[in-house]
Amino acid sequence: MTDRRSFLARSAALAAVPAVAALTLTEPAPAYADTQPDYAPIPPSALGPAVNAQGYYVGRVRKNLYWVTDSTYQAAFLTTRDGVVLFDAPPSIGRNLQRAIDEIAAANGVSNKVTHIVYSHHHADHVGASSLFGRHVTRIGHTENKRLLVRDNDPTRPAPDVTFDSRYQLRVGGERVELAWHGTNHTPDNIYIHFPDHAALMLVDINLPGWVPFDTFNISEDVPGSIAAPARAMAYPWKTFIGGHMGRLGTRGDMVVYQQYVNDLIENIKKALVTVDPTPFFVKYGNNTWAAVKAYQAAQVEYASAPVIRKYTGVLAAADVYTASTTFLILESVRLDIGFGSQIHP
Ligand SMILES: [Zn+2]
Repeated sequence: MTDRRSFLARSAALAAVPAVAALTLTEPAPAYADTQPDYAPIPPSALGPAVNAQGYYVGRVRKNLYWVTDSTYQAAFLTTRDGVVLFDAPPSIGRNLQRAIDEIAAANGVSNKVTHIVYSHHHADHVGASSLFGRHVTRIGHTENKRLLVRDNDPTRPAPDVTFDSRYQLRVGGERVELAWHGTNHTPDNIYIHFPDHAALMLVDINLPGWVPFDTFNISEDVPGSIAAPARAMAYPWKTFIGGHMGRLGTRGDMVVYQQYVNDLIENIKKALVTVDPTPFFVKYGNNTWAAVKAYQAAQVEYASAPVIRKYTGVLAAADVYTASTTFLILESVRLDIGFGSQIHP
């Protein structure tokens, strides 16, 4: 009897869980739109060409190298006499990738068959449409790319068939593309894709031409590596930069502006680390150490980011949207990786 009663009690408790969840879900959503902050307008220089009725734009980078965008994500492809080499397959562009390839292949009388896909890095938002191209495509990525995709075990992103550690020259249908890994940055597997015959470089999730980085420095997994990446990119000869994001291609000038933005952040972060006084935060919060640290670091981020936001508003789109979160991540790296401002107790 006792057992049966406790069983029933447990059943009732379990049955109540979905009911509570359902009630929560049916509550009306707050009027979010009414409470959102306003931001500075996007500078026209940040925007690219208009997308077509199907939601994509395809354009020539140079000769037989093309790029595709949905105005937020970018992929690239090279037409060759033996088929098409695709660079990344963002799911947001999805089936429009093949439509863009079909459009160009038909106009130029070349094959529209994708034979190779090069992965810039393993993230689903850049290669999650890979499986659309079937099983008989040769996929190429860094050794770490294979490890991470095997770990993630996502059927939309088959692991690469061909991997390399430092350099790989891809030769398809008389074309050559130089792939290189120069250390971890945005992710451990993010590579430099150089098109020596097209004066172009593809490096994804570092510099998003015309825009500040996405939240927390493009969610960089290795901040010193991400800070070093633009100089690595500039060491290559190229005129056109494919950054994987937003609606337009980049120039060397865009990379210079981006490097200056990051350098300005680092310089102001170092000032904040030695200037903002922690005392008032610890006085206010007493033994709640985390509350004091949170408020102290928020003040440092505000101190460091405010002049940079002012300087780049109208220069880089969304400077007022994401500069603070990027400042926070770089501040942590300046403090923890470089050890700047670290003091040993006397
Ligand atoms: Zn990424």
